[in-house]
Amino acid sequence: MVEMEYVEAYGARVPKVGLGTWQLTGEECYETVSTALDVGYRHIDTAQLYDNETEVGRAIADADVDREDLFLTTKVSPRNAGYDDVIRSTKESLERLDTPYVDLLLLHWPNPLVSVGETMRAMDRLVEQGLVYNIGVSNFPKVFLERAREAAETPIVTNQVQFHPYKPQRRMLGYCQREEMFLTGYSPLARGTALEDDDVQRLAEAYDKTPAQIVLRWAIQHRDVVVIPKASGEAHLRENLELFDFKLTRSEVEELTKSSLLRSGKAMLDGMLSELR
Ligand code: NAP
Repeated sequence: MVEMEYVEAYGARVPKVGLGTWQLTGEECYETVSTALDVGYRHIDTAQLYDNETEVGRAIADADVDREDLFLTTKVSPRNAGYDDVIRSTKESLERLDTPYVDLLLLHWPNPLVSVGETMRAMDRLVEQGLVYNIGVSNFPKVFLERAREAAETPIVTNQVQFHPYKPQRRMLGYCQREEMFLTGYSPLARGTALEDDDVQRLAEAYDKTPAQIVLRWAIQHRDVVVIPKASGEAHLRENLELFDFKLTRSEVEELTKSSLLRSGKAMLDGMLSELR
């Protein structure tokens, strides 16, 4: 059994480490999710925009894992933010994922052309119908998040945002903690760029861990944070789960925290450029 810790919010119980699946498609996605489930992942993150829900669903169906032991998230594309489109597209996601429900449904990005109240009412309806267990948002600044929370009857459990040492999200995290939500950290390795950091490398040597493990440990040592690193080979998948047998000191966490618009922007740009290559 892999050691795992959980965060809890409004009845949701979420493994602190999940698998991100952006940029995994086709057989590579099927193989990666299958391996991940095999080595102990019980939290998978996908989205309508990733064009891989069918392969994620197939891997889950073929795995030796009970559906109720898995925390599965998908995200409504911003272009489906209108009431009817949320309902229709989520039902289509469920069909592709080959599952009667998702544990968490997020709106992927705010859509300035659709009132968030409309999106949230549709999500409430999906919860009433038992097709969605928890709801949330992604890439929402605080004022938008507050609006969404006011509009939804169902508690919003998370905001999924970029979160790594160069983007520590202090204010958003503080807000989530005060409001008893959790923060889902995407690109927690800063798309690999944080692994080169001198302090990360020094601590990796000191703890006999890999740079990825130091960066992910930094993230999950924050209260009410879960992370969804994307990895493709078995070695990386295993490594990213093995985070619960060491602890950084408070001053090491501080040393690694290097809020930098330049570095976080560069990490996102490098990711986009590698997509184009
Ligand atoms: P990430 O997880 O920070 O970084 C992924 C990169 O790190 C890949 O190149 C991966 O390479 C490498 N890597 C993973 N584990 C490693 C290890 N142990 N050692 C060395 N390298 C390692 O970046 P991300 O893919 O942008 O973010 C993760 C997930 O967050 C996405 O898959 C997606 O689910 C979610 N996300 C959400 C949004 C949103 O708008 N809500 C935006 C971006 C991402 P290999 O593949 O070769 O292992």
